[in-house]
Amino acid sequence: MERIKCLILGGGPAGFTAAIYASRANLSPVLYEGIQPGGQLTTTTVVENFPGFPGGVDANTLMENMREQARSFGADIRQGNASSVDLSHRPYKVVIDEEKELEAETLIIATGAQARYLGLPSEEKFKGAGVSACATCDGFFYRNRTVAVVGGGDTACEDALYLASLAKKVYMIVRRDVFRASKIMQEKVFSTENIEVLWNCNTQEVLGDMMGVTGARLLRKDGTVFDIAIDGFFLAIGHTPASALFSPWVETNEAGYIVTKGKSSQTSVPGVFAAGDVQDPTYRQAITAAASGCMAARDAEKFLLEQAN
Ligand code: NDP
Repeated sequence: MERIKCLILGGGPAGFTAAIYASRANLSPVLYEGIQPGGQLTTTTVVENFPGFPGGVDANTLMENMREQARSFGADIRQGNASSVDLSHRPYKVVIDEEKELEAETLIIATGAQARYLGLPSEEKFKGAGVSACATCDGFFYRNRTVAVVGGGDTACEDALYLASLAKKVYMIVRRDVFRASKIMQEKVFSTENIEVLWNCNTQEVLGDMMGVTGARLLRKDGTVFDIAIDGFFLAIGHTPASALFSPWVETNEAGYIVTKGKSSQTSVPGVFAAGDVQDPTYRQAITAAASGCMAARDAEKFLLEQAN
């Protein structure tokens, strides 16, 4: 069985930064990218708030550069998804794609988070046929058409603004009478003519036919039920941390985020560290994920040194 000093799961900013630091510390890291190489950031277009890029940077380019930087220091970057783990004792066992068994002296979990859906059967039915949780991936198909974005956070505003640059009209379906988003994003939305906010509304059903989505049935808080005609239905209602595989072993909070100790990346299992969105319900930014990846690699290095002594 292959034995790895520092195994990193996840190919987003947290995982790649961990790989950069771990390879420079001679930990010979192996990183598995998982089902979404480059992580969630690759579902966006331009990243404007990553320091060092005053004109913004294309998200895919940023991730490709991080991957390349990790490789240049010797990190072994592979494709594959962890399908099971046994963290009962060191070295920890990790199975990739249900076939390749690995032993890891230290493990860095940087598996990120996944988009949430409303859970409506009609939403499920039209997934990929008008229902999407990635405006920047699928927005292109809605040029000069009408779409709706569900949610009132920064992601919903960002998605609505992006879609408004392509689509004829964008509805925002917001369940309260206020946005959760930051003031600057709210102001951008309010000053965009082809965005209409539907306050106090919940989606009862996504409507459609053989060709895909044709509308949505909404219930306003005052009891009114009404339909809107749309071609695309975009979800932007937050994320769920990709921690299910690890939660039987490491402590997680009530929302499923992996709990780390104090100002460190240490989980409840010695030698297992967590970085990025899988352990961060609060900040969830590329830069904070990258920073926590650095912490995880440094923590793994320190842990291995202590074990050797
Ligand atoms: P948030 O958790 O901030 O917002 C989720 C939104 O979806 C809220 O408006 C919430 O409503 C709504 N919502 C949740 N569940 C449902 C449901 N079942 N039905 C209808 N509406 C629902 O998630 P985001 O993804 O927007 O943001 C996550 C983090 O990432 C935040 O910290 C945000 O600031 C950050 N971010 C920053 C960006 C930037 O700086 N450029 C861009 C994108 C995200 P309610 O308010 O009623 O709970």
